[in-house]
Amino acid sequence: MKYYSDTIAAISTPIGRGGIGIIRISGELIPEIALELLGKVPKPRTAEYLPFRDKQGSTIEKVITLFFPKPHSFTGENILEIHGHGGYIILNILLSRILEISSKIRLANPGEFTERAFLNNKIDLIQAESIADIIDATSYQAAKAAYNSLQGFFSNQIHNILDKIIYCRMHVESTIDFSDQDIDTISYNKIKKILKNIITETDKIYKSAYSGSLLRDGIKIIIAGKPNAGKSSLFNALINLDRAIISSIPGTTRDTLYETIQLNGITFHITDTAGLQEHSTNEIELIGIKRAKNELKLADHILWVVDSSSCSNKYDDMLLPLQKTLPNINKKTTITIIRNKSDLSLEKNGIYIINGYTCITLSALLNSGIDLLKKYLYNNTKHKIQHYTLPHSIEENQNNFIARQRHLNIIKNAYQYLLSAQKQLNHYYCGVTIINDRFAEDLRYAHDELNKIFGKSTPDNLLKKIFSSFCIGK
Ligand code: GDP
Repeated sequence: MKYYSDTIAAISTPIGRGGIGIIRISGELIPEIALELLGKVPKPRTAEYLPFRDKQGSTIEKVITLFFPKPHSFTGENILEIHGHGGYIILNILLSRILEISSKIRLANPGEFTERAFLNNKIDLIQAESIADIIDATSYQAAKAAYNSLQGFFSNQIHNILDKIIYCRMHVESTIDFSDQDIDTISYNKIKKILKNIITETDKIYKSAYSGSLLRDGIKIIIAGKPNAGKSSLFNALINLDRAIISSIPGTTRDTLYETIQLNGITFHITDTAGLQEHSTNEIELIGIKRAKNELKLADHILWVVDSSSCSNKYDDMLLPLQKTLPNINKKTTITIIRNKSDLSLEKNGIYIINGYTCITLSALLNSGIDLLKKYLYNNTKHKIQHYTLPHSIEENQNNFIARQRHLNIIKNAYQYLLSAQKQLNHYYCGVTIINDRFAEDLRYAHDELNKIFGKSTPDNLLKKIFSSFCIGK
């Protein structure tokens, strides 16, 4: 257990008016704090209704207290929770009173309770991150997946892989270190088989983690096209609000607009961008175009809008302007052509494929064909979240877990080391046993890499960055 000389306190409920507001305190000084404020140390794990006193001993507020003595608490330290009324002023009066008791009590930094839980080995880094993800979840599926990560579902899968790597390392390194002695070595074929299984499992977990990251971060959809194609109209129709200004004057949308929608539990971040035209001289419009191009580079999915009443449905007419604007578009970005203004062109609303690109005809103005587009967006994403059945019952949802880019990078690196180890194995096959330093080294790198996921050997500045993204009081 790590010992902290300072005790930390913070309001743990959101700022604003509410029936109840909670202050959380963690650290050594809790017995002293409780005696001073409440006149007694509350019974462990029992709700008590006690007076909260000011310096002169008169009652400021009657509160409910919960005391969790160390080490059986969230942080591993003594924790005291004080439940009062949920008003901004009253909670701040209580908090100030707590902080004035001793110079060793201070306001907690964002995420510091969770950071202490992590540093006291109560939870690993994946679980710590999943707490922030539960709080920030934007859909039922994301919240449930984050809960599963907190329960250790993701961590356990990584531990399973690590156990197998450790098993191989044990045998391989003893083979190298004691190659002149008669020790129990496992056969080449057995190691090969285990390694193959580790690689398959790592690949599987990467795919699940990728799905989990989509659930956490949502899908970034960028609406782009030439001026007046109907981008803002499509944006408003998708979000079901009159958010963007619609006008027949080209170049009305100059700034990027962002909104988030949910389609069957998947989060989509939708961005409306300035119309892309090659020959603008207007300074403000040019800034808007630059922003639009930057957004396009980050897109998971581009909805490229064309005016079907003035643009033919030939591939070149529709897509060349996009390719000219953004020649190096990310290969992973999905591009869908939206043939808008079907009410003018009299084209039938529908969905079809041109040169491998999906093309959807609709009318944003009349809101017709929008449901078709939404259904398509959902289906297109659903297959990426392949491990998710997007169910509504907890039983069906057992296998999901939430993940972040940090996890994906680590798993990807470990996977590369494992592939390299596999190459070594094939290369240096010597019949019965494996005596190959490079192979052992690759396994060690894969091992070290996967350990990083739990925060072991994670640099302090990275940990600080992770925890500082939490809210205060968490
Ligand atoms: P943007 O410049 O691409 O954002 O285009 P806007 O959404 O501002 O629309 C430009 C003009 O086209 C406006 O006058 C809209 O009313 C009109 N418009 C947009 N969508 C449609 C549509 O589906 N049908 C028709 N007839 N007009 C549309």
